[in-house]
Amino acid sequence: MIALVESDGTLVSWNRAFESYKKFFPAANKLGDFFSPDDGEQITSKLNSRTKEHWIIKIPIPMGTDEFVIQCDCLLLPMEDGRVTFIAEEIHLDSALQEVLERLNKQVKLFQIESEVTKKIARNKQIEMEGYMAQALEVTQIDALTFLLNRRMIIKELQDEVMRAERYTSMLSISIIDVDHFKTINDTYGHQVGDEVLKKIALRLQDHVRHPDVVGRYGGEEFLILLPSSDAQAAADQAMRLCKLMREMIVNVNGDQNLGVTISVGVAQLQHGVDTWDSLLNRADNAMYAAKSKGRDGWAVAE
Ligand code: GH3
Ligand code: MG
Ligand code: MG
Repeated sequence: MIALVESDGTLVSWNRAFESYKKFFPAANKLGDFFSPDDGEQITSKLNSRTKEHWIIKIPIPMGTDEFVIQCDCLLLPMEDGRVTFIAEEIHLDSALQEVLERLNKQVKLFQIESEVTKKIARNKQIEMEGYMAQALEVTQIDALTFLLNRRMIIKELQDEVMRAERYTSMLSISIIDVDHFKTINDTYGHQVGDEVLKKIALRLQDHVRHPDVVGRYGGEEFLILLPSSDAQAAADQAMRLCKLMREMIVNVNGDQNLGVTISVGVAQLQHGVDTWDSLLNRADNAMYAAKSKGRDGWAVAE
């Protein structure tokens, strides 16, 4: 299970496995509250240390009047924004093997001090671990098909940008992009070709948007672009360029057929003191539907 927490342990977001576990502790609200007092205290002090921490933790699962304990590999990973990612993975070993493993771990630690070879192994393990951590982060933030920010992350970025724009009274516009007649592409050429088309579109979008714009996969064949410091006119100009870009993109299917793609874009600019992040999204969504009803392959700007 994975959870993102503030540095004081307050939960920010979590995955489905953590959600199921969370139900056992309705009164808990900080990460440490979900574990035994000892482990909870350890978590709190490790959160404070702001270094990567990896250790074994016992996770209590209340079952009626009984309580099962699951041994988990536990990882605390400080993020750049001050938050910390908590990852716990069940260790599928019985308790006897677990003890052996812990003893061996201690021995390896001793050897690390003495042996150059063991040091090398430890370094490789460290690299392996960092790879694993990077993967765990990717799973929670990146869309597996397009490698863009996933829906959860692009919405989080949107919430942050709306907050920033309100605080500094700066401009913010957004664009929702929906692929036209995408179902027909799937129905005609198959789902796999549909996936390839989505990947190509995502690459083009990523290529086209420039800092500080951010792009993410908002839904199946829908993308969301955030344009900080831009008004609706600048976003509409970008939408026009994107429509042209997609119209001119040729996707080759099975080596002998080419298929064309068009998109419809809905643009909305944040109205200070009026919009929330979701009302802004709604206005962009409505504008996108207006672009569809105008005949697709075009854009519309929300009032
Ligand atoms: P419109 O111009 O009105 O947007 O028409 P549309 O066909 O694009 O609209 P609709 O929402 O009916 O269809 C979207 C399709 O996108 C349906 C769904 O099966 C497909 N889709 C969603 N996610 C994926 C995906 O990851 N891969 C593929 N290949 N297809 C997907
Ligand atoms: Mg759609
Ligand atoms: Mg569509």
